[in-house]
Amino acid sequence: MERPLDTIPVSEWGFFDESIPPLVIAGPCSAESELQVMMTARGLHDFGIHVFRAGIWKPRTHPGSFEGVGTPGLKWLQKVKKEYGMKVCTEVANEKHVYECVKYGVDMVWIGARTTANPFMMQEIADALRDSEIPVLVKNPVNPDLDLWIGALERLNRAGVKKLGVIHRGFSTVQKIPYRNHPGWQIAVELRTRYPQLPFFADPSHMGGSRAALKELSQRAMDLGLDGLMVESHCDPGCALSDAAQQIVPSELKALLEGLTVRQKGTNDKEYNENIEQLRSRIDVIDEDILLSLGSRMDISRKIGQFKKLHNIAIVQAQRWDEVLSSMIEKGKDYGLSESFISSVFNAIHDASVAEQNRILEE
Ligand code: PEP
Ligand code: MN
Repeated sequence: MERPLDTIPVSEWGFFDESIPPLVIAGPCSAESELQVMMTARGLHDFGIHVFRAGIWKPRTHPGSFEGVGTPGLKWLQKVKKEYGMKVCTEVANEKHVYECVKYGVDMVWIGARTTANPFMMQEIADALRDSEIPVLVKNPVNPDLDLWIGALERLNRAGVKKLGVIHRGFSTVQKIPYRNHPGWQIAVELRTRYPQLPFFADPSHMGGSRAALKELSQRAMDLGLDGLMVESHCDPGCALSDAAQQIVPSELKALLEGLTVRQKGTNDKEYNENIEQLRSRIDVIDEDILLSLGSRMDISRKIGQFKKLHNIAIVQAQRWDEVLSSMIEKGKDYGLSESFISSVFNAIHDASVAEQNRILEE
């Protein structure tokens, strides 16, 4: 059963300078050496980044790949705090990681996509963090399952973790796409709508998997009104021990951020507010009409269901549905509605009708 989350707003965490959006977390995929950590942190600090990331324990697909430097790397993060006054964060995937982070004064932790997908690990981490003041950012699970993502947030929140946020890094897919992970923005938008109070980051680095994709994905995150970005930055990306293709040097990150158009959340402009209100009320009226039409359609569909039952006719008439759908797609074009939009809307309507007729058949 989904419950509201009891959280502390990001403005009270004392981490980010909210006067210049977006909120930015940056740093290497992995902490590799003291020199690499310090050089990268200096480059980022020099242009105003306040929150530094570096993976200490790395979840790698194949054993034998670089799996992170482990606990010794936490000392380098302490040095970043001390020398540059930055907040530092890393990924935790089990209770040992949590205890080590607490011991070494890590300021914030994030949960990786593979861990969010695992309720046992989430519970273990939530228990280790119990009533902790440490903010926790939860990446989406590798598979596009919104409930799994929400469940992870709930486990942490029930353990008393109130400084909570989320990171959208896209989903694994078998489809051939130009990104490392499928953006699936609609799932992010759905989570955003359900929990508007949670600080929401996009991770264009793991979503895109390449330097070339960073700009477009970061801009998309801003256009959707997300709060921040977590971007991988390395002082020498070509030599990175993990995710070399997606990391950028600090100066490139600076240029990326400067090139972004950050949309405002709202405005005091009277004309804009009046117009938007009027347009929204027209949308509300149309939405009511759509509901009314859907309700009438379902009534007729129920009658058809009863009729089919009486005459012992199969519910799905594939040929008829193909004809209806093709005709709607054709007509939709005249209204400027794309084929994919029409087919998803009408397939959803059809699925609901079939389910209702099935229910009638079983009565
Ligand atoms: C990371 O941020 O370094 C990482 C491993 O990300 P993800 O969990 O999104 O794959
Ligand atoms: Mn990485």
